[in-house]
Amino acid sequence: MMPSVALYIHVPFCRVICTYCDFNVYAGLGRLMAPFAQAVAREIRLVGAGRGLRVHSIYFGGGTPSLLPPALLEAILAACREAFDVAADAEITLEANPDGLEAAQMAQWRVLGVNRLSLGVQSAQEGELRLFRRTHTFADAVRAVRLARDAGFDNINLDLIYGIPYQTLESWQDTLARAIGLAPEHLSLYSLTIEEGTPLHLWVAKGKVPAPDPDLAADMYEYAQDALAEAGFEHYEIANWARPGRVSRHNLTYWRNEPYLGFGPGAHGSYGGWRYWNVRKPQDYIARLEAAEAIADFPFSPALEGREPISRELEMGETMMLGLRLIQEGVAFADFQRRFGVDLREVYAQELAHYRALGLIEVNAGRVRLTRRGRALGNEVFAAFLP
Ligand code: SF4
Repeated sequence: MMPSVALYIHVPFCRVICTYCDFNVYAGLGRLMAPFAQAVAREIRLVGAGRGLRVHSIYFGGGTPSLLPPALLEAILAACREAFDVAADAEITLEANPDGLEAAQMAQWRVLGVNRLSLGVQSAQEGELRLFRRTHTFADAVRAVRLARDAGFDNINLDLIYGIPYQTLESWQDTLARAIGLAPEHLSLYSLTIEEGTPLHLWVAKGKVPAPDPDLAADMYEYAQDALAEAGFEHYEIANWARPGRVSRHNLTYWRNEPYLGFGPGAHGSYGGWRYWNVRKPQDYIARLEAAEAIADFPFSPALEGREPISRELEMGETMMLGLRLIQEGVAFADFQRRFGVDLREVYAQELAHYRALGLIEVNAGRVRLTRRGRALGNEVFAAFLP
């Protein structure tokens, strides 16, 4: 049976570029939204049509997908439903920034089938939001959650960031408590990384802003694990917590190393032994799609920029690396055996013995998982499984 796939749609527009962001995003390109939506719809039809591929998740990421007028969102979703066999209960997620949202717009999203909202809240501290040049306040986030509930959203994620310059354990505790107070179904907590080429990187390099303290960030993570367990959330992935039954099906696709197709400028996909990615610049992306009549080779888009074959060895290593991110699920021996025809305990005997001895992983109940100590040192463990 053909596996069902997830679709990722990259919406590259933002009102303002945040000081820590190094994603493929652009401010001031609002005039390209309509041609962008047309190009994405075309890309989806060219790649997907006639293959009967089942889809269990559609994810609008960015960028700020909530900036797209609902009519454009509708055109893209219509293309998805035309070109793919989108399951009636598919998870359809839209990333949104908390400012500038309106009740009517949210109601339209619901009508279009969007059933999961991911809000970029980031912090409840106005100073931290200003440092990031976020365009919203925490009060906007409170309002956004209320509007979303009124519109009928019963699956809301809040993104938060910790390890921020000037942030204290107390301010993080306050942010977390106020986020929990909004009663989301899901929380994603990201440790800030200072990416080269961002204003924040420049400020830290020049000594204008203090570098984040990794030990303090580790304490914040430890605190969050306890506080969220106390609040009844299941810690199911290193950086993600959910109410029972509310795990992100889209992101599970990534962590289980299952296939997904990427659409939009700079989007990545993984399918049939290939990882591939599109051209990054929206103008180039649109031009490629405008000129395209058909695709030469599934799943590669007319906007393809590059691709990399995934060897069996690499696929096995990535399955371990990604699966170990799943706190409870980890990697099951039986699943690995079914997929690759080999026993992971034999393939990775050395690595398993080494990290077990260090107390970073545990092997029981037919699966391998990170220990609590291992979660804080996950990157070291993951790297060991890659060829
Ligand atoms: S809103 Fe999100 S995607 Fe846009 S610049 Fe800020 S962090 Fe980046």
